[in-house]
Amino acid sequence: MQSIRIEKTTMPKSKPDAAVLGFGKYFTDHMFMMEYTPDKGWHDARIVPYGNLSLSPASTVFHYGAEIFEGLKAYRTPKGEIQLFRPAENFKRMNNSAERIRLPQLDEAFALSALVRFVDMERDWVPDAEGTSLYLRPFLFGNDESLGVHSIRNAVYVVIASPVGSYYPEGINPVKIMIETADVRAVRGGTGYAKCGGNYAASNRAGEIAEKKGFSQVLWLDGVERKYVEEVGAMNVMFKIAGVVVTPALTGSILPGVTRSSCIRLLQDMGIPVEERLLSVDELMDAAESGKLEEAWGCGTAAVVSPIGQLSYAGVDHIVNGGRIGETTQKLYDTLTGIQWGRLPDPYGWTMKV
Ligand SMILES: *Cc1c(COP(=O)(O)O)cnc(C)c1O
Repeated sequence: MQSIRIEKTTMPKSKPDAAVLGFGKYFTDHMFMMEYTPDKGWHDARIVPYGNLSLSPASTVFHYGAEIFEGLKAYRTPKGEIQLFRPAENFKRMNNSAERIRLPQLDEAFALSALVRFVDMERDWVPDAEGTSLYLRPFLFGNDESLGVHSIRNAVYVVIASPVGSYYPEGINPVKIMIETADVRAVRGGTGYAKCGGNYAASNRAGEIAEKKGFSQVLWLDGVERKYVEEVGAMNVMFKIAGVVVTPALTGSILPGVTRSSCIRLLQDMGIPVEERLLSVDELMDAAESGKLEEAWGCGTAAVVSPIGQLSYAGVDHIVNGGRIGETTQKLYDTLTGIQWGRLPDPYGWTMKV
């Protein structure tokens, strides 16, 4: 395994107060990075002071969107320890994303040990106020100095870290969701299952229009028929319909969330049946109208679980569970956050101490 060169900052920053953190606004003192070239492979792994990158304006990433990323958190437990949640899953997914975009593969074991080393160095940056964490953002991009459209040969891998506030500073409030019927986020055969920047670029317009209309996010439908439910904003989505949790199957256009898979496991262990299958918007609307739609929520690392209080489709509003968080949603939130922040035992071996 490669060694990691360490260059400590000579100008440590002061740490922001928990109350002002928000999401992704502040960055720690250091960053991890390494480069890939065809002759050397991944090399020059280093933790250096956080700072700007220097890139050629002809770099592939600026022109052809060759970029993938990951997102995970380091949590401070009540005892003051620091832990990660299923971090190996993020590197497995990153390599799946890299395979799709044709970026070089990471050595998953090395990437994980480098992440642990980096978090250890930044451990004082992991905040301890309720609901706060240190958000970790690994990303990988093509960096050939050439405008020719050809396969990527050179790449850069970077990890930055940002102390983030509670996603719910005012308590969990269910959100209003607009079902998007014009734009699509991804198509089967495209890059939907890859965590790549380009998917976010495709999502911007619908998200912005929905926000202007007073919604928090859009619910994406499939790219071919605009018929099947896929994701909500940048989260996976789950519905409790007549006692059964239904979540869209991973058909290729859906991002396989770590939170999604953790929720499925927790639900099964709570004795709640889970179906991963196609769910049409018509079935969902019928369930909403007949009162069978009991709960709905999005799930992802940033929000953990985000209850949906209203679904609007073709101008018709459907209130879910009287606009309140449902029992299953609340239980999932409590269990998952309990394990992540070390307040509850972890019978699954999901957490990893730093
Ligand atoms: C990252 C992401 C998710 C959630 O994945 P987690 O691993 O649970 O954080 C869901 N959908 C999209 C589009 C994403 O980018």
